Amino acid sequence: MRGEETLAEVVLTMDRTLASNYRGGMFMGFSACVPKGIIPDWLYFSVFCPSVEYDEETGEVKEAPLGIRRIEAQLRREGYDVAVVHPDAVHKAIDEDTIAVGVSEIDPQGMGPATTTFTSFSGKPAYMKVCFEDLMERIRELKDRYGFGVFMGGPGAWQVAETFPRFGVDFLIMGEGEYVVGEVVRRIEEGDRGLEIVRGKPVAAEDIPTIVNPTTNGIVEVARGCGRGCKFCSPDMRELRSFPLSKILEDVDVNVRGGHEEILLHAEDVLRYKADGWRPNVEAVLELFSAVMNRPGVKRVSVSHVALSTVCQFDERLGEISEVAGVGELVPWMGAQVGVETGSPRLMAEHMPGKVAPYKVEEWPDVVEQAFGIMNDHGWVPCGTLILGLPGETEDDVMMTVELLDRLRDYKSFIVPLFFVPIGESRLSDHDFFTPEKLTEVHWEVILKCVDHDLKWLPELYEEYARANGHGPLVKLTIRALTWYGRRKIFKSALKWCPEKELVEAVLG
Ligand code: SF4
Repeated sequence: MRGEETLAEVVLTMDRTLASNYRGGMFMGFSACVPKGIIPDWLYFSVFCPSVEYDEETGEVKEAPLGIRRIEAQLRREGYDVAVVHPDAVHKAIDEDTIAVGVSEIDPQGMGPATTTFTSFSGKPAYMKVCFEDLMERIRELKDRYGFGVFMGGPGAWQVAETFPRFGVDFLIMGEGEYVVGEVVRRIEEGDRGLEIVRGKPVAAEDIPTIVNPTTNGIVEVARGCGRGCKFCSPDMRELRSFPLSKILEDVDVNVRGGHEEILLHAEDVLRYKADGWRPNVEAVLELFSAVMNRPGVKRVSVSHVALSTVCQFDERLGEISEVAGVGELVPWMGAQVGVETGSPRLMAEHMPGKVAPYKVEEWPDVVEQAFGIMNDHGWVPCGTLILGLPGETEDDVMMTVELLDRLRDYKSFIVPLFFVPIGESRLSDHDFFTPEKLTEVHWEVILKCVDHDLKWLPELYEEYARANGHGPLVKLTIRALTWYGRRKIFKSALKWCPEKELVEAVLG
């Protein structure tokens, strides 16, 4: 344990919403986007967003987001003493010898798609924004006292590209940070206070440092980037790089030593691990799952994201992955986030033809339905996202999404509608945000159908989860009651917000 007399040279931290594992739940992460003021803070922070454990004396966290762990490993590789510290305890880790404080953020101004969607109806700020600004205020006070430099990075850095000096940030790192963060800290050490945006570069798989401490929920990166080239996505996704299995297993071991029995494999499309172009490398994916499952200390494996077009190519062989992962025995089902985005082939062709590849854009609704079917057949549960308000969207496009939702109704899944967000540096960054005022009757039909879909499947999904995790009848009853209550609450809110009362009655009444 680090004592006060040996405080680290570089302190890394994050806002309080990132210092949680959201109880390990695949769907609970969406609660990070909840607006502040909807439920009492104590309830939010104790039930939905409980804090990760941290050392009371030093403030060092037991688990931290993967991006911070990579930066920690990179800076250690370059000879710095680094501590990753809980946001409520930064004051314990900083003194006059601190060189730099680094902050990693995913959604610091609540401008990400999920947060924008959830907060735009309430008019209240997202917890992420409130917590980020509170953290930066406290760091600024410490900076005034001790004189260290501040750098910031992470997937949400674009949100403060114009405003970062206002938050006391000296260097803003945009994009992958491994190749540039050491130089930023050296410049800070030499007294440079920049006020500069530093552009990171895609890191070669063999240069990515092995983590040295556990990640939140045992998340282990298996590949970086994507290569499908959707216009609304970050430019950092341009190039797919699969990591060597040996490096992945080293990260697994670090997490097992840190107490994780379940490993969450992360990539934009885990099924494209070591893929040859669009063609998945089924044998390599099987080898990956087997190697992780056979690692001493690992009891379960789960995945973050897969692409629907890759699922279609896997077809029946997805069952082999389920078998290796013990789906139906060790875990009730395998959840995975998938991008559905729209039911309109025209919008797919306009904004994301690569997402459909190797299939034709006209086949997209069939690809989605087929992939949902394959996933369900092999014990997988897709959690799909839709985008409302893509540039150039017409009423006919949205109608096609409604039709697709009807086709998906009987597949066990979750579907979340999100507003279009012009992500900084994406090819659609000069378009406007989609906002509630722009919602048409057909958009409302999409939203209400998603709510209806999710409330239909939530009790069954939860009961399977509860059974596998030994939850008692009281917990199950409570969840059923909460689902019923939630449906009534959403029904009333929809009546308030949606101008089409008959539509609300028809779908949710
Ligand atoms: S498939 Fe997903 S990660 Fe890849 S470019 Fe499209 S939106 Fe980005």
